[in-house]
Amino acid sequence: MCVTHLTRPQVIDHGTVSQLLNSLCARYRFFGVVPIGCSVLGRPIRSLTFGDGPDRVLVAAAFHGQEWLTALICLRLCEEIGEALRTGLPLSGWNLRRALRDRQLVFVPLVNPDGVEIAVHGSATAGEYAGSVRRNGGDVHGQWQANARGVDINHNFNAGFAELQQAEREKGIIGPSARQWGGPYPVSEPETEALVNLCDSVAFRHVVALHSQGEEIYWHYGEHTPPESRLMASVMAAVSGYTVAAPSGLAAHGGFKDWFIDTHHKPGFTIELGKGTNPLPVTTFESVYQKARDLLLVALLI
Ligand SMILES: [Zn+2]
Repeated sequence: MCVTHLTRPQVIDHGTVSQLLNSLCARYRFFGVVPIGCSVLGRPIRSLTFGDGPDRVLVAAAFHGQEWLTALICLRLCEEIGEALRTGLPLSGWNLRRALRDRQLVFVPLVNPDGVEIAVHGSATAGEYAGSVRRNGGDVHGQWQANARGVDINHNFNAGFAELQQAEREKGIIGPSARQWGGPYPVSEPETEALVNLCDSVAFRHVVALHSQGEEIYWHYGEHTPPESRLMASVMAAVSGYTVAAPSGLAAHGGFKDWFIDTHHKPGFTIELGKGTNPLPVTTFESVYQKARDLLLVALLI
């Protein structure tokens, strides 16, 4: 590819993601940008969409503030797909014009814009919640995972919520927190609601949630996990060297993929991108992306 990447390695925030979404749409006219909701502080949550086929797949990233690099990885994937579609050249051996003919792709690179702003720029970006965010560790490097109200979006979905609340209480998490508080009730947060509404209105065949880190693929949640999910996860693992894994402890309920599997009875996956300590440094971006690219393409095409 001879075109300069728009998605170069950089620390990203809500403004950067908005600019990149606009730039990708301007360069690749077959992409569209659709708002799906707003954060607690009113920042728009936007999706990038491609195609109108019957097989619809969702990729969502940056549920957790300090995992902002996942948004950039999601956008790089969009950019490489856009370039492959524009030129007709293969990407990782795939002819995407043909492979994506029956697909509709929806990317939500920044599920938790307020959380990313806090993780990158500190508590002062949290508006009326700045004091609470500061008291709960919003200015400690690498700590902030939640949204502006201190609710962990990936603990706020309606899947095993009572068990999750019990587990949180046992760990002493009973209110707004940098991480792992599921909120007062399921889907109490507008960021969670935006994804729920999107999935309830678009019949996705499967969904993929990007997190960091661990190089792991989670595919299972309860009795409604479709039988094909394990094989799909195994294929993603085989092309990447990632490990197929099962969650435990506080990560066992309330997540996006948990809710999607439990409610829609379709495959849902959590991909833990990269290895190291969050936030993964920008210097790891190219290597994390290269290792995950085939996994992500398979996740879209399988
Ligand atoms: Zn995460």
